[in-house]
Amino acid sequence: MLPPMPLSARPSDPAARPTVLVVEDEAPLLTLLRYNLERQGFRVEEASDGQEALLRVAEASPDLVLLDWMLPSLSGLEVCRQLRRRPATRDLPIIMVTARTEDQDAVRALDLGADDYITKPFVMDALMARIRALLRRSGGIASKGTLGYRDLVMDQDAHRVSRNGRALHLGPTEYRLLEFFLTHPGRVFTREQLLDGAWGRDIHVEPRTVDVHIRRLRKALNGPGEDDLVRTVRSAGYALDAEAG
Ligand code: CA
Repeated sequence: MLPPMPLSARPSDPAARPTVLVVEDEAPLLTLLRYNLERQGFRVEEASDGQEALLRVAEASPDLVLLDWMLPSLSGLEVCRQLRRRPATRDLPIIMVTARTEDQDAVRALDLGADDYITKPFVMDALMARIRALLRRSGGIASKGTLGYRDLVMDQDAHRVSRNGRALHLGPTEYRLLEFFLTHPGRVFTREQLLDGAWGRDIHVEPRTVDVHIRRLRKALNGPGEDDLVRTVRSAGYALDAEAG
């Protein structure tokens, strides 16, 4: 039996993931933001109007609020103002999302205490970068740096993986699996340990699902003529191991 994994070795432990509260009344945009934020490893809470936003902040204690300016019931500006007035949320990182292009409005948002703003329509990658940057500045996420093994490099801040300088395209689950493997290269993990590590304990997934994602991970990692970096250990599990044989 392996000793229990330390908490730090569970990169996808839901409790360890920063929470972003998205306040947006346009349902399709809300869905798109949730999808992208979850891909980046964030937990997502939602509110679709200003009053609800204040409630969700109190209930969910988010690490950052992405706040639309034009909202029903209470404007984003008013939500921002109220959050700044309350001692508990005075320093809560807020990014204002505005459809307005007048510089004056941006200045107003910043004057009222928003930490940053972005104008609709925005480029999703740019918004994700600003969210990560603001969370890093506020201490919501530590700069995680890079993990590596052999010719494999994972930039955890930019969420990019490359092998031998070639960019790899991993699905979110394969990314988390690889991140978990990279914390202990060479070590053999059971399917259950991989489930805990990459999916989190509170999520029910069939152990066989692990095999599917391992196959996808292999396919993504191993280019033509390259060593297989994932070792299958019969009746035991898997390891990130160049001596895959
Ligand atoms: Ca709106």
